[in-house]
Amino acid sequence: MTSAGSTARPRVFLVEDEPALARALADMMTGSGYDVETCADGAEALRTAHLRAFDLILLDVMLPSLDGFEVAAGLRRRGVGIPILMLTARDELSDKVMGLKSGADDYVTKPFEAEELLARMEALLRRASPGRRSEIGSHDFGGMRVDFSKRKLTRGGQTLDLSEQESRLLQYLVEHRGESVITRETLLKEVWGYDTVPITRTVDVHIAWLRQKIETDPKSPEFIITVHGRGYRFAG
Ligand code: CA
Repeated sequence: MTSAGSTARPRVFLVEDEPALARALADMMTGSGYDVETCADGAEALRTAHLRAFDLILLDVMLPSLDGFEVAAGLRRRGVGIPILMLTARDELSDKVMGLKSGADDYVTKPFEAEELLARMEALLRRASPGRRSEIGSHDFGGMRVDFSKRKLTRGGQTLDLSEQESRLLQYLVEHRGESVITRETLLKEVWGYDTVPITRTVDVHIAWLRQKIETDPKSPEFIITVHGRGYRFAG
């Protein structure tokens, strides 16, 4: 796939309000093959984490406006299933339990060694890997089967070809099924590779084409659902 080079680096959302630590961690992770975006505020993290296709969230506990537990719980309430690794202080032992209860997947205690953090991150990414782009080859839904490597859709004994763009769009939707909304902006960035988002109906046009192929009634779709004013979600 043409975007493989740009998507092979896992994307990490680093939520840490201590500037020196955030910078050191970002440098270390970037040097280890991750794409890192940082955020220093709990409420902002909760608002923005689901807007980008992150593979992993590193979440500090003590943050301005909302603490890490509240952010983790809020993300899970919103249906965001990205693995969360909490960064807790050593004397916050009970925090570990709270962190996991709030929806975090694992924790590391400060201060930690870079190697330990990277090992935990890799373990979480491996666990989450069935949903990762590089892994998924086919998907069955609604009596249909889509094979992404061959760009074929089998439906009712019929085989339809998907264009490369349709296949990549559907693959992205499948890999993010269950998320409450996939925005047009996200799709333009992740499927089309636009860094700055142009004003375009590209996404809607391709969604319409895809609906023609996978929906029984494209006017009242049951798989690619419109989230009014925001984007789409996938229910297959
Ligand atoms: Ca902090």
